[in-house]
Amino acid sequence: MVSYLPQSLSEALELLASTGAIPYGGGTDLMVEGKNDASYLFLHKIPELGVIAGDADYIRIGASCTFTRVADHPLCPGILKEAILQIAAPAIRNLGTIGGNIGNGSPKADSALIFFVTGSRLRLVSKRGERIIPIKDFYLGRRSLDLRPGELIAEVLIPKMGYDRYYYRKVGARDALAISRLSFAGIIKTQGDRIVNLATAFGAVSDVIIRREDIDAMLIGKTLAEAKTVRDNYLAAYAEAIVPIRGRVSEKYRKRVCMNLLRDFLDTMNI
Ligand SMILES: Cc1cc2nc3c(=O)[nH]c(=O)nc-3n(C[C@H](O)[C@H](O)[C@H](O)COP(=O)(O)OP(=O)(O)OC[C@H]3O[C@@H](n4cnc5c(N)ncnc54)[C@H](O)[C@@H]3O)c2cc1C
Repeated sequence: MVSYLPQSLSEALELLASTGAIPYGGGTDLMVEGKNDASYLFLHKIPELGVIAGDADYIRIGASCTFTRVADHPLCPGILKEAILQIAAPAIRNLGTIGGNIGNGSPKADSALIFFVTGSRLRLVSKRGERIIPIKDFYLGRRSLDLRPGELIAEVLIPKMGYDRYYYRKVGARDALAISRLSFAGIIKTQGDRIVNLATAFGAVSDVIIRREDIDAMLIGKTLAEAKTVRDNYLAAYAEAIVPIRGRVSEKYRKRVCMNLLRDFLDTMNI
């Protein structure tokens, strides 16, 4: 095994371009893979990737921030903290990073679900420059990511929209230390009685986290009373859209739980 320990982002990008080494965040996924002959690029000494900050539009979380740091940070929204505190145990949360959770490409990744529902963006960097893309465009299919050779995930940008009213459920085989069998997140923002934003996301159901802005648009702009009148159509659209892939847990069970959680979200939000 060859390992590289860059001290800055520019050094890391040079090494990535010249060696093609595998980016290594906390190693909690990579350790399980256990490739002995691989080269690794350790990211934890790079200051630029360890910053959590806010600007006018976004809460910005560096890819190498561990779950523990994010859960403790005052800028990070409650829905993200709640999801993170249900990931594994403290030992894994002390090592596992946001960049690794996104970079593993799994639809079960619990922080990624929150980045989907909040419409977050990713800043991707390489020697050639940088690009910022919506997280939902980053996931191309089963374990397939829009991460180009020589690129690293540098930051997650969460739009500053206020996430006070949210709903999050992780369904696992047990109450603690469980990988998601299914997960659901919903957010709503109202002005007076009118819904100005509503978003949902379903994890561990399909190859990629399900985020259907087109369906959620049915409720946006409506008053809560108006939204109630299209509730059945909204649920019917999701009933068609959610097609679970085969997994350890039956497709029928996961579909039913998805729909139950969606209904409970609407009930909770008085729709
Ligand atoms: C016991 C156990 C329990 C777990 N429970 C959960 C759980 O409940 N929920 C959950 O979501 N996950 C869980 N996981 C999975 C894992 O902890 C998370 O996915 C974690 O976020 C991975 O982060 P990491 O930094 O350790 O990633 P690493 O293992 O370092 O990397 C994972 C992947 O991401 C890539 N990568 C890392 N950083 C970057 C970057 N900056 N740019 C580009 N690519 C990058 C790596 O090359 C690799 O392909 C669990 C793992 C274990 C071992």
